[in-house]
Amino acid sequence: SGAEQRRRNPRRVGVMGGTFDPVHHGHLVAASEVAHLFHLDDVVFVPAGQPYQKDLAQVTSAEDRYLMTVIATAENPQFSVSRMEIDRDGPTYTIDTLREMRQLHGTGVELFFITGADALGAILSWQNVDELFELAHFVGCNRPGHRLTDPGLPDGKVSLVEVPALAISSSECRERVRKGEPIWYLVPDGIVRYINKTGLYLDDPTAG
Ligand code: ATP
Ligand code: MG
Repeated sequence: SGAEQRRRNPRRVGVMGGTFDPVHHGHLVAASEVAHLFHLDDVVFVPAGQPYQKDLAQVTSAEDRYLMTVIATAENPQFSVSRMEIDRDGPTYTIDTLREMRQLHGTGVELFFITGADALGAILSWQNVDELFELAHFVGCNRPGHRLTDPGLPDGKVSLVEVPALAISSSECRERVRKGEPIWYLVPDGIVRYINKTGLYLDDPTAG
């Protein structure tokens, strides 16, 4: 129960990394499912500042992505959003984020880094894996068409979970907006409205 979780020691905090351009129901279902499976007290969404694996010119302003993530998570008391990556200069590295989370929360917190299995493979092959594994447990979420391929993962440090299959991606949402196709029910209602209001993802922001 919630009361049991509040008494549980140490606190278990999920850190959900992503570009969130825009945040969609795949992200939200993944966070909710991992929170349930791993008995997490909270999940902090951390929109990436400059995702080093993505072309900067193609990524929407950090402020828009941050606001959309806030809108999408606002009504869930377990979810919150951190500005730490978007306020940090330079490219975004998960290891910096986990170090900062660790400093912020002290040692009395267990961290669970949640991301898609695709992104997890990239993080674990490029960054300091030994330190990453000291800082957090890693949870990779599978969605249709994505498999974790890295064979060298130590036991107990990485878990792969099947998220109720939602074949939604941010790229697909952006493409649909560009083509004038609906994104209702792929993203929270507030995100549809925010995108309409701001004209995000249209080739010509003044058209439509
Ligand atoms: P893009 O299409 O631009 O790559 P995305 O939908 O993959 O965007 P990201 O912000 O890159 O969204 O996602 C953050 C993390 O969430 C990624 O590691 C991604 O694999 C994972 N994720 C995205 N969509 C889903 C989904 N439908 N189910 C489970 N995990 C997902
Ligand atoms: Mg992706």
